[in-house]
Amino acid sequence: MSEIQNIDCLIIGSGPAGYTAAIYAARADMSPVLYQGMQPGGQLTTTNDVENFPGYPDGINGPEMMAQLQAQAERFDTDVRPGFIDKVDFSGPIHKAWDDSGKEIHAKTVIISTGASALYLGLESEQKYLKMGGGVSACAVCDGFFYRNQEVVIVGAGDSACEEAHYLSKLASKVTMLVRRDEFRASKIMEERVRNTPNIDILFNTETEEVLGDDHGVTGVRVKNNQTNETHDIPATGFFVAIGHKPNTDIFKDYLKLDETGYIEYEEPGTTKTNVPGVFVAGDAADKTYRQAVTAAGTGAMAALDAERYLSALNG
Ligand SMILES: Cc1cc2nc3c(=O)[nH]c(=O)nc-3n(C[C@H](O)[C@H](O)[C@H](O)COP(=O)(O)OP(=O)(O)OC[C@H]3O[C@@H](n4cnc5c(N)ncnc54)[C@H](O)[C@@H]3O)c2cc1C
Repeated sequence: MSEIQNIDCLIIGSGPAGYTAAIYAARADMSPVLYQGMQPGGQLTTTNDVENFPGYPDGINGPEMMAQLQAQAERFDTDVRPGFIDKVDFSGPIHKAWDDSGKEIHAKTVIISTGASALYLGLESEQKYLKMGGGVSACAVCDGFFYRNQEVVIVGAGDSACEEAHYLSKLASKVTMLVRRDEFRASKIMEERVRNTPNIDILFNTETEEVLGDDHGVTGVRVKNNQTNETHDIPATGFFVAIGHKPNTDIFKDYLKLDETGYIEYEEPGTTKTNVPGVFVAGDAADKTYRQAVTAAGTGAMAALDAERYLSALNG
């Protein structure tokens, strides 16, 4: 049997929330251990241009920015580990976790920063232009700016899709919204906002057949009316997917309060406390509203400060 490791602070996840929590926790002498998970650096490692994170006036490449956050966390002796946590037990005062090699860790505090994954349609052409950074995006607030005065297409029918379509309508010259059914899934107020925006064109009963493009990126979208089976091409330089996110919280569901879509719920507004004392959550794993690197980093700092106070009270 492998030896149990006792630590003050375990951080699960290596996105902006996890690394920021690590910087704060390490500087507070909590000797944090951070597991990077399957996607070291988190979601930003899948994007080229980050232009809205403060401190980078010329913008920065996503993987480069995350390498810098990691270096900053390591500078203060965060123990950054590859691998992931695949099981936890939060039933007692000491929080237990097991990594993918079977190593057992007992932590006085845990900061969960496992993020969320954007859902995509799964079309080959969608994934091709997503990987190229050539016009497919799951985040209008992040990437809308790159499509000023251009025509874009957005897929989705819920509140987030309506909000993102409306956001894009202020930047793009035209937004075509593809809705699979004959009605929205959004609240009436969001639906009305979209319907009343002159440069948003809504196509109901319409599905994406293929994202069209060339060596430079997206040039259009081939769509199909699922009632008539007719197809046609819509010219566009951007293709936005707004069909939801899946928070990476499955391993916590037996212990933490999750909402109906799997986001971890904060126990006390204005803090990062969960329903389990000593377990805190930061970033997109609990945030279905803002989903930005800077807000994830902000709650990462909060989580480390909350954990430090908890630890001080525990240690007297
Ligand atoms: C294509 C794209 C472009 C974006 N562009 C921008 C932008 O320009 N500006 C902006 O502000 N935001 C942008 N975002 C949003 C931004 O990336 C997220 O809001 C932010 O990364 C959330 O940070 P996080 O730390 O909460 O989680 P994430 O970045 O999602 O990181 C989660 C981490 O948890 C780890 N993990 C998961 N499960 C486990 C486990 N069981 N054990 C150990 N580790 C685990 C993963 O490996 C990963 O490291 C973009 C998102 C995408 C997808």
